[in-house]
Parts: sequence; C-alpha cells; structure tokens
Amino acid sequence: MPNGLQLCARTTSEPQLERAVLSAVFWIALYLGVITVPLLILLLGDAPPGRGFVWDLAIALGFAGVTMMAVQFVLTARFRRASAPYGIDIIYYFHRYAAVVALVAVVAHPLLIVADEPAYVAYLDPRSAPWHMTSGLLSVLALIVLVATSVARKQLHIHYGGWRYSHLFLAIVAVVAALAHIEGVGYYAASPAMRKAWLALIALWTAVVVYVRVVRPALVMRAPYRVVEVRRERGDAWTIAVEPSDDGDGIEFAPGQFVWLTLRSRPFAMKDHPFSIASSAEQPRRLEFTIKELGDFTRTIGDVAVGEIAYVDGPHGAFTIDRYDSRGLVVIAGGIGAVPIMSMLRTLADRGDRRPVLFFYACRRWERMTFRESLEDLVARIDLRIVFVLEEPPEAWTGAHGRVTQALLDQELPADRTQCEYFVCGPTEMIRSVETSLHGLGVPLARAHSELFELV
Ligand SMILES: Cc1cc2nc3c(=O)[nH]c(=O)nc-3n(C[C@H](O)[C@H](O)[C@H](O)COP(=O)(O)OP(=O)(O)OC[C@H]3O[C@@H](n4cnc5c(N)ncnc54)[C@H](O)[C@@H]3O)c2cc1C
Repeated sequence: MPNGLQLCARTTSEPQLERAVLSAVFWIALYLGVITVPLLILLLGDAPPGRGFVWDLAIALGFAGVTMMAVQFVLTARFRRASAPYGIDIIYYFHRYAAVVALVAVVAHPLLIVADEPAYVAYLDPRSAPWHMTSGLLSVLALIVLVATSVARKQLHIHYGGWRYSHLFLAIVAVVAALAHIEGVGYYAASPAMRKAWLALIALWTAVVVYVRVVRPALVMRAPYRVVEVRRERGDAWTIAVEPSDDGDGIEFAPGQFVWLTLRSRPFAMKDHPFSIASSAEQPRRLEFTIKELGDFTRTIGDVAVGEIAYVDGPHGAFTIDRYDSRGLVVIAGGIGAVPIMSMLRTLADRGDRRPVLFFYACRRWERMTFRESLEDLVARIDLRIVFVLEEPPEAWTGAHGRVTQALLDQELPADRTQCEYFVCGPTEMIRSVETSLHGLGVPLARAHSELFELV
C-alpha cells in the first residue's frame, strides 16, 4: 500500500460519534449528579443554619468526599453500559484520580473544622472522643492507607493479589466508618430530605457491593467453560482455548474486547485476571487467549490441562474496530499487545472483510514474535500489510528496526492518515509514544484508540 493511496477515506459516521459523545456526557452528568445530591440538599433544603464559611466548607467537603467514596464502588463494578463509551482502562484511571480528590476532601474536613474551632482537636483523641468521632477518624485513616497503597503499590512491593483483598477491605471500612460518623453526629443528616438521600446512597452502595461480590460471580459460575487446547507460542507465551462446558453458545463479543478469566479457582475468590480475546468474534463458542508468562499466575499457564474448568466474565472494553466505520484500519502493537489486534484480523478474515489494514507489529526479536505464523495465514485471507519493527533484528534484516517512531509512521502511513482510525496496544510507554507521534502527524487523538494492559 504505497504512501499516496487512500486507506481510510470513509470514517466514523457523524451519528455514531454523536451517540458516543452523548452517552459519555450522560454518564458524567449522572456521576456529578449523584455526588452533589447531599450538597444540594444542604444548600437548598431544610438544613441547619450555616456557621461561617470555613465551617460550612468543611461540612460540604466531608459530605462530597463520602459520597465520592461510596460511588467509587460503582466505577469499578464493570457495568458494561457505563464503561462502554470510555473503555475500562479510562474508568480505572478516573477511579484513581477521583479517589485522590475524595481523599483531599475527606482530610480537609477535620483540618478545616479544627482550624475554625481549635477546641475540636480533642475529638481526634480516641481515648476521650465520642465513638462517632473516632469512627470519622478511622474512615480518614483507612482512606489514606488505601490511596497510599494503591498509588505506590509497586514501589512498596505489594503483590497484586494481596493488594486487591486489602483494597476492598479498606474501602468498605472507609465507607462504613464515614456513614457511622455522619449518623452519629446526626446534626446535618437529620432533615427528612437528607435522610432519604442518605438511605438511597447506602442502598446503592450495598446493592453494588452485593452485586459485584456475590451476584455476578454466581452468574459467572452458572456458565462454566472447559479448557479444550493449550499450546506453546513464541516469546514465552501460551494460547489456551476454552469452550462452554454445556451446549451454550458462548458469549458474543466484539473483536478487541477482553474478559476476566478465572482458572483453578472460583469466581468468588477474586482471582480473575483480564485477558484480551485473541480469536475471531465470528466463532464465539471457542475463545482463545494468548498469555505471556510474566508473574505468579501467568507463569503457571503452561501447566493448565485440557479439561480444566474456566470461568469467563465478559466481554468488557471499548477497544474494538466494530465501533467505527472506517474504510481501512491502522493497527499498532508491541509484544503481547498484539492479542486484541489478532482478534480484529481474524474476525475480518472470517467476515470476508477486504478493507485494507496496515499493521505495525513491534517486538524485540524475530524469533520471539508470537503471532508470526498466524499472520502468514492471515495475509492470504485479508488485505493486510505488515510492517515488522524489531528492536534487535537479525543480521540480514532489511525491515524497520528500533521502535515505532514518528518518522517510521510518517514514512509508512497513507496520505489520508488524519482520517484513519488507529488501534494501539502494547506497553504503556509505547502507547504514550505512539499517541504523541500520531498527534505530531496531525491525527486527532479522538481517532487513536488504545488499550492499556496495566490497570493498577
Ligand atoms: C484489558 C487487559 C487485557 C489484557 N490482555 C492480556 C493478554 O491478552 N495477554 C497477556 O498476556 N496479558 C494481558 N493482560 C495483562 C495480564 O492481565 C497481566 O499480565 C496478568 O494479570 C498478570 O498476572 P500475574 O499474576 O502473572 O502477574 P503479577 O506479577 O502478579 O502482576 C504483574 C502486573 O499485572 C497486573 N495484574 C496482576 N494480576 C492482576 C489481576 N488479577 N487483574 C488485573 N491486573 C493484574 C498488575 O498490574 C501487576 O502489577 C491484559 C491486561 C488488561 C488490563
């Protein structure tokens, strides 16, 4: 596909974009609406009289912080409709930043109160303070530990599995202790409107916790899968294939999406890992995952035996070609990030879709390129041009080497590059660098879609 040719002349339609934007705006408005309800009631309803700016600000921050803390559970509840407009990685990022904002609000609450009324410092001493003040203090401390252990998890060498349990425990402690504090203080939550809002928030929070930790795992357990194939791949990776263990049809998914996969455990145990589906969306009964040996869980993938039970929660994610109506595609992958791209290519092949695809596939060494052979087969079935990019090429290598740079993209991309849809998946650093390069080439960032393999 020479440079001057058109690859992507027809792009995502206006109504499609409009729907996506409206949906995104709706969920943001709902989020802001929910977290500001208690504040609006305090402002507009029959709340007790104010006690000066600093005091009132402290109370408002306390209420906003607690509501944000409770809503944090909704953000990571994997509700597909809510995450679809953004992608789950963006939701997790938002969850992180929202936690920091909630922490600032919650910590500022007692500090401002003490600044306004220094005598209240006595309430910070659990030996003499009433229980509901100690409860408030407990909530603040739990939130501080929760945010610190999340932001600095890797620096503190906290293992993901253990962190996940402690995160849930600390989050529940922080919310329950804060609600107990508000109930114990009573003063601001006594009006009928505020009581209703508070009860609604508690009901929502409880329902989400029960749904995420009990109902959904139970639903996932009702539709078990069975491992039907395990095969070794290049580059320390394994492909495992699963099929429904009964006569079920499997899950319908879009190429590029991922699932939370549980092996050798039950869905209630919180031992699920996110993996992109590598196989074709046109064959939903058989799901294939290609998994790189990386840590405690993934290093044991090669030991999985045919016949073992697997549980699949999904599909999730917004990283899919099916959301966009482009006439051609540019896909860019580094290392194991090629997995969702393979699902896209295999799906195009099964659909007989002859749209041109330009694939930048970066890897360290030629012999470690996981999907090398599968791609040979795909080149014969779809209109695919691959630019292999090797960091450590063999001696006789005449292709691209180094990384996927702006210069390389500039050299290989078609003339109508600003109209293409780009799908990028790989190490976080690579995604950032490719996005910067695309931006430098005039590609609007709204056309660059990426999937991060690292949520926390
Ligand atoms: C949307 C998405 C799709 C992915 N698709 C693939 C894929 O197709 N192939 C592939 O090889 N890898 C994929 N990954 C990465 C894969 O999930 C992690 O490599 C794997 O969970 C690491 O587990 P571990 O116990 O072996 O490693 P560890 O050494 O325990 O962890 C390494 C890192 O992986 C992440 N991680 C670990 N456990 C979990 C978990 N239960 N949930 C979320 N993150 C976790 C953490 O950031 C951790 O620091 C994907 C990740 C995401 C978010």
